[in-house]
Amino acid sequence: MRTPVQDYLREVTDSLVGIHDGEVADYIPALATADPDVLALALTTITGRTYSVGDADREFSLQSISKPFAYAVALLDHGFEAVDRVVGVEPSGEAFDELSLEKGSHRPRNPMINAGALAVHSLLDPDNGGRVERLLDVFSALAGRPLRVDAEVHVSEMATADRNLALAHMLRSYGLVTADVHDVVDGYVQQCAVMVTARDVAVMGATLAGGGVQPVTGERVLPARVARQTLSVMLAAGMYNGAGSWITGVGIPAKSGVSGGLLGALPGQAGVCVFSPRLDAHGSSVRGVLAFQRLSSDLGLHLMDAERLGETVLRERREDGDEVVYALQGVVEFTGAEHLLHELAQEEGWTCVVLDLTHVDRVTRVGRRMVLEGLRRLRLDGRRVAVVDAGRVLPDADPGDGEVVEDRAQL
Ligand code: GLU
Repeated sequence: MRTPVQDYLREVTDSLVGIHDGEVADYIPALATADPDVLALALTTITGRTYSVGDADREFSLQSISKPFAYAVALLDHGFEAVDRVVGVEPSGEAFDELSLEKGSHRPRNPMINAGALAVHSLLDPDNGGRVERLLDVFSALAGRPLRVDAEVHVSEMATADRNLALAHMLRSYGLVTADVHDVVDGYVQQCAVMVTARDVAVMGATLAGGGVQPVTGERVLPARVARQTLSVMLAAGMYNGAGSWITGVGIPAKSGVSGGLLGALPGQAGVCVFSPRLDAHGSSVRGVLAFQRLSSDLGLHLMDAERLGETVLRERREDGDEVVYALQGVVEFTGAEHLLHELAQEEGWTCVVLDLTHVDRVTRVGRRMVLEGLRRLRLDGRRVAVVDAGRVLPDADPGDGEVVEDRAQL
């Protein structure tokens, strides 16, 4: 059988080829010559499977899509506090090349606008091969192949970098950039000139979506906290002055770049990249935005599409002699554990409570604490408690007072 996912993605791109609205970015000469009709779509699941259609192996420069990844590298290398001192996490509501500084601290509002990205870039360690080399190392690990800077795009953007130079000078005047301004802008422009394919970007996005683990190589490239922070800032500010309508309409953390790439990363599910160079007034790919609107609604990818999780954790309640058995299933997280504890609290008259975890895939940290506390309280009430857990999804089932929960076999 051929998987329908591929056919579905083809249908999405087919519906977009007739759309020629928008303009290719021309303020960077090397981008002005891009073929405006190119279209690529790639989707990588957090299990590492990639589906792609169109020109998914054609290279383009990352441009602003580099910003979330550079932010992640700064967090990784220099810690949250150091990064927080130079850049905020608030949406700016302004265009990508506005100064958008916070009152008082003068920090750029977020790392997704140019001012914030320059402050972040300047934080990177210039030694040990340089800032750009460090970024290339991590970007390559995220993509799973060696990436490079395109000299033509770099030189072309440097020739017209007055605005970025001005932004960096302002930041230096406020003490937020302490490095040499020209070095910082040159390094940032190289960061934007790293060449990728839609497939690379989808894999990089899937790494963020999977909590920092590159799904193809299996390498943990970023700590989970860093991946979460990066996705959060993408959600708040990745789409520039279109952030609010993006969150409501699409609901996927995303970052667009002026070369026409659009990255989306849905936590726990997938990374997606659309590449199509014609841009809307915000500087985002016209077809990219349309593709994401469609994917979000067709595939139910909107972050705020709430699932009713809690009740589904209870697979079955059965009575067996003097035992009442609770069989659980799936993932036991906060609301699942809350549901179980609520049900257990209603039980009267049973001397023995059995928790059967045979069909449970995973118990989260919070789920575990709650379940163990529930078991502990049952024991304090004088009940006998047993856990059936051959798969060891609830390891060290110590209810918290030193007593080890019995194995079912010993009951
Ligand atoms: N290199 C571009 C700039 O700094 C990136 C902008 C973007 O992709 O939005 O102007």
